[in-house]
Amino acid sequence: MKIEKKYHIALNDLISYLKNSRYLTNHNVELAFRNIPRHKFVPKSELDYAYYNEPLPIMKNQTISQPGVVSRMTEWLDVKNGQNILEIGTGSGWQSGILSYLVGEGTVYSVELHPELVKFAQVNLRSLKIKNVHVILGDGSLGYLKASPYDRIIITAACTEIPLPLLEQLKENGLLLAPVGDTSQSLILLKKTSVGNIEIKNQSNYVFVPLLGKFGKK
Ligand code: SAM
Repeated sequence: MKIEKKYHIALNDLISYLKNSRYLTNHNVELAFRNIPRHKFVPKSELDYAYYNEPLPIMKNQTISQPGVVSRMTEWLDVKNGQNILEIGTGSGWQSGILSYLVGEGTVYSVELHPELVKFAQVNLRSLKIKNVHVILGDGSLGYLKASPYDRIIITAACTEIPLPLLEQLKENGLLLAPVGDTSQSLILLKKTSVGNIEIKNQSNYVFVPLLGKFGKK
């Protein structure tokens, strides 16, 4: 995708930084970053900062996540063409857009609690003619049973524990990625197997806004 020159330079700088710091190691994820430009997902007031490696305010006191965190989470999720993906916490829609690029002929379902953000994300995704993302208004701590089971589930808000409905809606051999913890979270990648859930990766010191809802923050 061709993007305006000023953003192109800033995007190249961001990608170099993420590669040097090993937050971005996968070529397909780099292509997703190039094809789903972050400046299409930030409010006008934040455009100058779209390619800073920082979370940025969107609305309803929520944030678009930091690029380094999005690249790492996307790499860990190991998305394959044709898969069925569930994201909890659509926010701006940027992470959904990145997943939509990687999943190709597959589908991304993304659940968001705030109607204003559902609308914001839908407008942002539509501006890039993305058709394989369905943004759903609802409590994502309950998952989205209708389109389950999922090959991959990603939660982009902090959970005190992984909501049970989400584990139930994951396919066998599927992966679930979530930030788990109170004031600071560990990114946890789980694989569901016939003998239980196996922790594949765990890395501490992340900070996300809280997951609300029935199985969210009490
Ligand atoms: N993935 C987003 C992006 O690319 O912009 C960033 C997500 S933001 C860090 C976390 C989001 O989770 C917020 O938009 C918030 O409203 C949403 N959220 C919190 N609790 C939720 C719940 N129970 N169900 C659905 N969305 C929830």
